[in-house]
Amino acid sequence: KTNINTNFIKSIVTDDLKEGRVNSVVTRFPPEPNGYLHIGHAKSICLNFELADELGGKTNLRFDDTNPIKEDAEFVRSIKEDVEWLGFEWDGLFFASDYFDFMYEKARLLIRKGKAYVCQLNADEIRESRGTLTQPGKESPYRNRPEEESLDLFDRMRKGEFKDGEMVLRAKIDMSSPNINLRDPILYRISHTHHHNTGDTWCIYPMYAFAHPLEDAHEGVTHSICTLEFEDQRPLYDWVIQECETEHVPHQYEFAKLKLTDTIMGKRYLKQMVDEGVVDGWDDPRMPTVSGLRRRGFTPESIRNFCREIGVTKSDSTVDVKYLEHFIREDLKLKAPRTMGVLKPLKVVITNYPEGQVEMLDAEINSENPEMGIRQIPFSREIYIEQDDFMENPPSKYFRLFPGNEVRLKHAYFIKCEEVIKDEAGSVIELRCTYDPETKSGSGFTGRKVKGTIHWVEATKALPAEFRLYEPLVLPKQEDAEEEQSFLDRINPNSLEVVQGFVEPNMKDVAPNDKFQFFRHGYFNVDSKATTEEKPVFNQTVSLKSSFVI
Ligand code: ATP
Ligand code: MG
Ligand code: MG
Repeated sequence: KTNINTNFIKSIVTDDLKEGRVNSVVTRFPPEPNGYLHIGHAKSICLNFELADELGGKTNLRFDDTNPIKEDAEFVRSIKEDVEWLGFEWDGLFFASDYFDFMYEKARLLIRKGKAYVCQLNADEIRESRGTLTQPGKESPYRNRPEEESLDLFDRMRKGEFKDGEMVLRAKIDMSSPNINLRDPILYRISHTHHHNTGDTWCIYPMYAFAHPLEDAHEGVTHSICTLEFEDQRPLYDWVIQECETEHVPHQYEFAKLKLTDTIMGKRYLKQMVDEGVVDGWDDPRMPTVSGLRRRGFTPESIRNFCREIGVTKSDSTVDVKYLEHFIREDLKLKAPRTMGVLKPLKVVITNYPEGQVEMLDAEINSENPEMGIRQIPFSREIYIEQDDFMENPPSKYFRLFPGNEVRLKHAYFIKCEEVIKDEAGSVIELRCTYDPETKSGSGFTGRKVKGTIHWVEATKALPAEFRLYEPLVLPKQEDAEEEQSFLDRINPNSLEVVQGFVEPNMKDVAPNDKFQFFRHGYFNVDSKATTEEKPVFNQTVSLKSSFVI
């Protein structure tokens, strides 16, 4: 097993084990099933699972499903699929909603101890009475109601006697605490909402700050790792654990969220793009979701290596998305077969090649990994080349095809452009070339050199294919924008380009998620949804070039 880079959380856990503060480490990944997982979640998954794996501990997958309004069984399904695809096996699979009875009893314990009360202020009144950073809060008039009365009201809240928002259960902590999170936070609210797991059993639901520590305690989690925005809630986390007198005492640790350049990450925004039809679903290959990256052609290894290498820190920073792309190139370099595909075809007729003849040429499957062997590709009098590989009036330093110039066809022969055929509108529709049989690839020909090598496919046997090329979904914020730009105003209209071209005939049996390196075009993945028996669809994962310097 690969060692994870050392990070501050790993140091804490290692010390806790060494000093005997814990006997073994238990972590959890706690997604809320209100969307698909994204690459930021992948970072948290890798951190939690690899930490426990390496130190002989356990990791639970726990659905933090305490807010029924936004949750859905489809999200539960996709989250499980993505965690498994990333290569991790959870020890326990839990739903926070399975602990509702436990949480309810803990809430009653708090009331009995005089540490919680039912409050009938409305949401606005509670917000106002909470005060500000510079002003202490005001105590609720219900704060000192008898415990028996709170117990009775809480019981009746559960039985459904009150409407949404009529009352809440609040912790009784300190309305003048410098930490606003401790100014009598809400523990339970009324919500007459159907829940994907518990149905209509409950009409009161615990708040995150109360539920999360209890979920951790219930499962015996030792190190509860979350992102930095929860740092201010840690005192409340500890308060809940202490006052609820749980058997296990978990601790919370925070790290900085992953942010990527050119990438919108928050689930809320991703959902909006799905709902408004900006993309074709959560797994659109342009999305930074795990399922989108999978359809785009990223491998679990590339994502895990990326997450490991960016490390775990306490300060916010943004990682260049090119760094993620670097890891997929590295992973596929030796694995992906090389092939040729013409994205924007231009017909070439080789006038001195015998009519009706087709020869088979040998081509290495992966020049960087010779063990992958060779494939055979047909060659004949008619081929397709890339429109961009021909210019009638080229600038200097253009080494591809132009009238009178000779280039090398990869794995085949030198050809020379003799004639340009145009349609009535003046567009180039065909080239007439000659080839030199002496220059066959592999023949050891050294008679003369050419500067350009281009790719091609034989025209009569080529397989039609669709290629999908991508740019970032969202354009950068305009520095001089007068108003705060919504990200929906920054949607890139050119984020998807679909072209119809041709691939080698040996591609006819490709399977979804097969990966190839198309010569000069980069890495592509066979699309799992749009590919048909007749026509494969290839999603460009990354181009070949990287401007990223490590
Ligand atoms: P979002 O802000 O995208 O909606 P979330 O934090 O609300 O994400 P959860 O389902 O609550 O989503 O997240 C599950 C776990 O993943 C949490 O522990 C959370 O801290 C972590 N996580 C979420 N986003 C990131 C990120 N960008 N980088 C690292 N960890 C993240
Ligand atoms: Mg969350
Ligand atoms: Mg959220």
